Amino acid sequence: MSEQDTIVIVGGSVAGLRTAEALRRHSFGGAITIVEAGRELPHDRPALSKQLLATDAPPESVLLRTAAQIAARDIDLRRGTAATGLDPAGRTVQLAGGERLAFDQAVIATGVAPRRLPVPAPTGGVHYLRDLPDALALRAAIGDARQVAVIGGGFIGLEVASVLAGRVEGVTVIEAMPSPLAHLLGETVARRVVDLHRAQGVQFALGRTVTRILGTDRPSGVVLDGSIIPADLVVVGVGAVPNTGWLAGSGLAVDGGVVCDEHLRTSAAGVHAVGDVARWPNARYGQTMRIEHWTNAIEQAGVVGWNLLNPRAPRAYTPVPYVWSDQYDTRLQIIGRPGPADTLMILEDDPGARRFVAAYLRADAVVGGFAMNAPSQALALRRAITAGLSPTEALAAAGSALEAAAFSGLASPPSRPGADPTAPTGLTP
Ligand SMILES: Cc1cc2nc3c(=O)[nH]c(=O)nc-3n(C[C@H](O)[C@H](O)[C@H](O)COP(=O)(O)OP(=O)(O)OC[C@H]3O[C@@H](n4cnc5c(N)ncnc54)[C@H](O)[C@@H]3O)c2cc1C
Repeated sequence: MSEQDTIVIVGGSVAGLRTAEALRRHSFGGAITIVEAGRELPHDRPALSKQLLATDAPPESVLLRTAAQIAARDIDLRRGTAATGLDPAGRTVQLAGGERLAFDQAVIATGVAPRRLPVPAPTGGVHYLRDLPDALALRAAIGDARQVAVIGGGFIGLEVASVLAGRVEGVTVIEAMPSPLAHLLGETVARRVVDLHRAQGVQFALGRTVTRILGTDRPSGVVLDGSIIPADLVVVGVGAVPNTGWLAGSGLAVDGGVVCDEHLRTSAAGVHAVGDVARWPNARYGQTMRIEHWTNAIEQAGVVGWNLLNPRAPRAYTPVPYVWSDQYDTRLQIIGRPGPADTLMILEDDPGARRFVAAYLRADAVVGGFAMNAPSQALALRRAITAGLSPTEALAAAGSALEAAAFSGLASPPSRPGADPTAPTGLTP
């Protein structure tokens, strides 16, 4: 890599932007172009289902950077410009308008798109939530809504339910599985999360499949196998699919995401991938993963920024995964790779304070953690798992964080939703 090189990053959200910034931080002086299909400046997607939806916050409040800040880093951000192809041998990115952008190194940061529900539906009133225009459209629709159906009991669906509960007459979460999140966190923890919502009046239709959304220009109900849930606003959050269609014909290995090695290099020389779109082998777990979490996008961007500039001394990306979600005034945090078959060790359970901390044990190792309104314990657990501490040491570390938090008042719920102030940092490999 020389100072005169040109790096083209496809996808201008958090992973793409942070990669560009990492390059500048490491004193890369060559040209950086980011190609972004959307017209908006890079924005904080976690805020879309939290403070942007819950308040009248202006759209600017969720921007990650202003145009001036991006320009000040000498990053050429080309918005409203979709990449339609990649030619690794010719080292060009094809743009929708026909232009070809030459590169020395390229980074794929095209993220994911919401999975569409394959059922008949009205032309309006059915919302998906991925970007700023989606969030503004949903926010504008809430005022007229009385009965809301949220299809999908994952984090985005549950966050939307938590914002709408109490603001409309009724909210029903429809989930195909018998218990939302139980396949990830086990029944005990999943029940805590569901109870949080039931206490706010949210109804659940569990183990039910949607066959149709009734209505012509707006919804009147959601048809399940055997019943109808009345709804004049529908929000769908049923997962996401990686944005890899534009790579067809590039020869790049794509398999449920862009296939990378442990250094986040794709199958084509000079092309890396980063963020939600990247699938890579995490040597810590001996498993290939693709993670759709904010912290992962940021940590990967740091690694790719380094690896682009240091190809002879690349860093492997071996994180302990981490995700947070804000629902009501409760922060949920998941650390590591917990599974429903793990042994759950409850470290704290205080329903009154809506605090709950648990570790997941597998084959005599702590493999995961779950914390509700307990950010310092979540951080302690992530550090302990990252350091490979024994269960006794890990649980002691989480226990001391518990005591320290209680002593210092840190145990109180997070003061502001949105961007995660307690996300463990400094753990980037
Ligand atoms: C509503 C919502 C709430 C969330 N809340 C949380 C949370 O609480 N905690 C958490 O950890 N994570 C959360 N996430 C996930 C987190 O936002 C993502 O992990 C993160 O945005 C991934 O960043 P990315 O840059 O990899 O991908 P994306 O943010 O998906 O960005 C990819 C970008 O690439 C662009 N693009 C796609 N195809 C092309 C193309 N062909 N040409 C040019 N540009 C293209 C897209 O327009 C997009 O801007 C949330 C996500 C959403 C949608």
